[in-house]
Amino acid sequence: MPAEDRSALPMPAFAGGTRAITTSPVVGTPPREYPEMFAAGGEALEDGELRVTVLGSGNPWVTRAQSCGSILVEVGNPQRDLLVFDLGSGSLANFAGLQLPVNALDKVFITHLHADHTSDLITLFGSYRKSGRVDRGVRVWGPSGSEPRFGTAHFVDGIREACRWDSESTRSIHGEESFELVAEEFDFSRTQAVYDANGVTVTAFPVIHALSGAVGYRIDFDGLTVVHSGDTRPGWPLVRACEGTTVDLLIHECFPPAEVIAASMDMPIERASVILNQAHTSPRGAGKVFDLVRPRMAALWHTVVTPAGTPLIFEDLRKVYAGPVVQTQDLTVFNVTAEAVVARQAQVEPQPRPVPGTPKAQPEARPPAQPDWWADALIPLDDVLALP
Ligand SMILES: [Zn+2]
Ligand SMILES: [Zn+2]
Repeated sequence: MPAEDRSALPMPAFAGGTRAITTSPVVGTPPREYPEMFAAGGEALEDGELRVTVLGSGNPWVTRAQSCGSILVEVGNPQRDLLVFDLGSGSLANFAGLQLPVNALDKVFITHLHADHTSDLITLFGSYRKSGRVDRGVRVWGPSGSEPRFGTAHFVDGIREACRWDSESTRSIHGEESFELVAEEFDFSRTQAVYDANGVTVTAFPVIHALSGAVGYRIDFDGLTVVHSGDTRPGWPLVRACEGTTVDLLIHECFPPAEVIAASMDMPIERASVILNQAHTSPRGAGKVFDLVRPRMAALWHTVVTPAGTPLIFEDLRKVYAGPVVQTQDLTVFNVTAEAVVARQAQVEPQPRPVPGTPKAQPEARPPAQPDWWADALIPLDDVLALP
């Protein structure tokens, strides 16, 4: 394996870094010059391009540095479709930074039903209605389980029911369609196309993680292919789903080596080994998958990123794979075109206003009846309102 200067790896963004964590941020010859950082809200998506942004890159222990799992795909079709894969805790705070239309985020693909991949679904369904999604509901594609109560439809129906108070509280000012949360459940065990619209095909394939009922996804658009593993151990269905074309970007989950997990989480190495080997992929395991698939650009995801740990991950992976690899963190952005794949970090405002998008129709506000008991409970404000 050729040596790589790992000391040249950029620092994580939370430690002051401004570049994607890789020594090979560009594969191919870019069709245009990209600024060093992706300026959210200021760079148009080109026709025929895919822009993939990691909204959440970390573990279930959500932190300000790393949200839980979520990947956004912006499609350069006439509709400028947004497809989001998983919605872990904190991921929508990163979406907000991108200043994309709120009402366009209505298609969610779930890899599996662990809470760190689904927690922001309540935020998307309930709170995004208040931030601009006034005219449409949310559709959630996801796998069946080994029995119905472990499936996506059961999960989504439960969230819709649990949100009754939230929904009822805003029924007077939002369109009826915005209260729809619809599951599109499919058989987890078969590799199959689960979405085909506006030039985009999404294919699901089974992965090996925790229980039956976890999947990964392949996204095809205009000759470009992006594959996302979800949470998994190294598995053949993913490799087979990558066959038939060059994969432009393969995002594979990766946990640090067991000794690093044990040290960082203060747990015995035996327990760290079980977590890693029963449900996840080591750096060299990810390297083996990359070597089988040979994507133009490979990326590691669902990794706790630290200045000291990241070089150890590359060291382990480089024992088996020499191609271009990015260690993703929150807001790592990939511009995927026929000519090149480019990895950068996004620069976002910490307090952006929502961009509502263009609704099909602006719903009429109908003031709701107020509960009788409010009349006695409200503090009269006539005196302060009369002040100049
Ligand atoms: Zn999981
Ligand atoms: Zn996970």
